Amino acid sequence: MSVSMAFVLVLVLLNAAPVLAQGTSADVLRVVPSGEVQQFSGRMVLLLSGYSAAIVLASLLGGWLSSLVNLTHTVSQTIISFVGGLMLGIGVFHLFPHSLHGGQAASEAAGWMMCGIVAMFLLIRWFHFHHHGPLEISTDREDPCAGQHADKSAGSSLLVQLGAGSTVCDHTGEQVHGDHGGLVQRAAPATAPHCHHAHQLSWVGILIGLSLHTLLDGMALAASVAAESRHSVLFSLFGFGTFLAVLLHKPMDALSITSLMKSGGWNARQRFRVNLGFALMCPLGALLFVLGLTASGGAVAGAVSGMLAFSAGVFICIALSDLLPEMEFHAHNRLQLTTVLLGGILLAWCLRFLESGQLHQLR
Ligand SMILES: [Zn+2]
Ligand SMILES: [Zn+2]
Ligand SMILES: [Zn+2]
Repeated sequence: MSVSMAFVLVLVLLNAAPVLAQGTSADVLRVVPSGEVQQFSGRMVLLLSGYSAAIVLASLLGGWLSSLVNLTHTVSQTIISFVGGLMLGIGVFHLFPHSLHGGQAASEAAGWMMCGIVAMFLLIRWFHFHHHGPLEISTDREDPCAGQHADKSAGSSLLVQLGAGSTVCDHTGEQVHGDHGGLVQRAAPATAPHCHHAHQLSWVGILIGLSLHTLLDGMALAASVAAESRHSVLFSLFGFGTFLAVLLHKPMDALSITSLMKSGGWNARQRFRVNLGFALMCPLGALLFVLGLTASGGAVAGAVSGMLAFSAGVFICIALSDLLPEMEFHAHNRLQLTTVLLGGILLAWCLRFLESGQLHQLR
């Protein structure tokens, strides 16, 4: 783990080196192109506050809904497909091109995007915090997957099984995925089962992973508002695409954490508090970005552009982490899921009509 963290750090430093060198020179404001000096106006802060409030409300609503209704598997997969497509589209069609418009070199933007992808990939790999859909704690030690992890499980850890009722995790045979019934094994099980569906989750891992995930969403939002504020956007809703993607994605995060806590025996009040804590990470991320930019007097050249490219990578990785398991493990409703996925991507593309068009041109 430390090796991969070091790898990301090296990536980030390599990318940031020219920026840092520029930032330490005495006459920094003359080096920075005029468009790069970026301050947040009162109106932008107000807009960010409105976005943040809506996102926090959406998160709370998502957590609250989980205690009211049980979404069917197909409905939740459909939502995941649509929002995944939207996030993918926002990352590819908007965040990345907008980062280039700020005057950032394409190779530099590509570097930041790779940092975002790798950072989010490692976060998900080590902390296993990003599961949407039904989660339940497995207590069955006879479970072939449970046995694999049982010796490793620490006191604060939970063994979580994805997909209600799926106890067969061997993927060497041909399988079909029923609508609610989990996996059905068709071929004879192999002697050494390998398991894709069970992960050892720890509350600490979820806490760190989900907090950073939401914090980064808030920063992406602030950077998007900053970047678009120099252009004419319909109703001056700067950063609307990023806002929409985060707004629709957050309830799914809230749903996964509250349903996990519910099966872990936490009561409604505890679930609400933890969910609220996670939701508040978004305004905190936005605030940190605004304060950082304001404190530096807008002098860190390319901070907004770099953050946009980094966020493009984060959005792409998060979207694919939701979409790829669906493709691999869910053989049902393929036409419906593909249609809503394309719908999400199309919606992201269409959001360019709210913008002036300059945002998609190189300066
Ligand atoms: Zn755009
Ligand atoms: Zn998420
Ligand atoms: Zn399925």
